[in-house]
Amino acid sequence: MKHALLLAIFLFSSPFLVAQGEQVITAARVKETVSWLASDERLGRDTPSPGLEAAADWIGARFAKAGLEQVVKDSWFQVYSLPGVEIDSTTISLSVRMTVGDKTTTCTLKADEDVCILRAGEAAGGQDQEATVAYADDPRIERLLLAGGSRRPTVLEVPADHASFVAAKGKRCVLKARLLGSAPVFLVKQGLLPAGVETAQYFVNWSAPQPAAIDIPLRNVVACIRGASKPDEYVVVSSHYDHIGTGRAVDGDGIYNGADDDASGTTAVILLAEAMARGPTPARTVVFVCFSGEEKGLRGSAAFAKAPPVPLAKVVANVNIEMIGRPEPGKEHSAWITGHEYSDFAEIASAALQKAGIQTIDFAMAKQLFGASDNMSLAREGVVAHSISAGSLHKDYHQPSDDVSKLDIEHMTAVILGLKAVVREFADRPDRPRYNEQGLELLGSTKPRK
Ligand SMILES: [Zn+2]
Repeated sequence: MKHALLLAIFLFSSPFLVAQGEQVITAARVKETVSWLASDERLGRDTPSPGLEAAADWIGARFAKAGLEQVVKDSWFQVYSLPGVEIDSTTISLSVRMTVGDKTTTCTLKADEDVCILRAGEAAGGQDQEATVAYADDPRIERLLLAGGSRRPTVLEVPADHASFVAAKGKRCVLKARLLGSAPVFLVKQGLLPAGVETAQYFVNWSAPQPAAIDIPLRNVVACIRGASKPDEYVVVSSHYDHIGTGRAVDGDGIYNGADDDASGTTAVILLAEAMARGPTPARTVVFVCFSGEEKGLRGSAAFAKAPPVPLAKVVANVNIEMIGRPEPGKEHSAWITGHEYSDFAEIASAALQKAGIQTIDFAMAKQLFGASDNMSLAREGVVAHSISAGSLHKDYHQPSDDVSKLDIEHMTAVILGLKAVVREFADRPDRPRYNEQGLELLGSTKPRK
């Protein structure tokens, strides 16, 4: 009894529980969902990062609460791994010696508090190595923050609340691909380095644990609504929940929130799952997937395609949702489909969108972008897979300013309602969409490396 009461209190106090008969896809719920995903607390959902893992847990919990079924045995997650290294700011040491003429100043820094390691080099330490030092007001600093490192150790002074400093604290894993350059990059809290002089030379003594090679476990979040009459055929509805993390600050903001890219698409996947879970049951099984690692080269979707939790030959369509929150002026309530000329997917989807009040428009780069998102991983395996977008490649794309405040929530809500009609159409229609000759020719030339 007590437990039941506690559960009831928990459920009814949750903002995500929807009472019977209430609308699921509303502007308020869109805003709430996208705001959580793109919050500064997620630190830009880098692959891998604690913010990304928190997002995976949260999406899994939403699927569970909506009453969806698991696709992977006993889990809301498909786990895959990528090669990486573990680095630990708590066990490093760094002292910086500055010489100007015959004057020398040395400062020793406290691990994890005053200094963090941003990128590991190939070695575990160095004595009296000449270093590149850049102060917070140095115009080169943002470029150096982005650079992978060099042959010299690099020491960058940043404000203590710089997103990169916050993200670099403690022990963490980074993908191997990020281990560029042979020397480490350190971040030092502003105000601790000896005051710089233009003619200064810098030398460092440093040590860091030898970067340990590990397999970094990563997760795609996967759930389904079992089809009523064709449960063994599937429609895959997807987005990527990762973004690019932290980095170069613009106007003091170093968190790349990825509100449009692709917290907006992930919001759509979550709300579509919640809305469709309330019925009526679709004919085919609808699988909802949020991929990680898209920004690192479509890694999550590649893992999904390599070890599909449902047979790909039985997937009739993949509706991948990318960037639906930032329409160009005058293009509100419009959407566009990547690679629409390759199959009859766009024709079918457009008709469904239109019925829901969403026009399909041409977008100049729609053809090139076909291969630029997770749909491509499934397309390579022969699945009719396209991305639907309802925005633009705005100037905030892959910038810290891709924030929730810039989203058109009303537009997003209308588009998600349109996408619901699209998913239902692919799930219920008798025929499956097909590639045409042009599509088959393209895919024939991009067969995956197995
Ligand atoms: Zn994206």
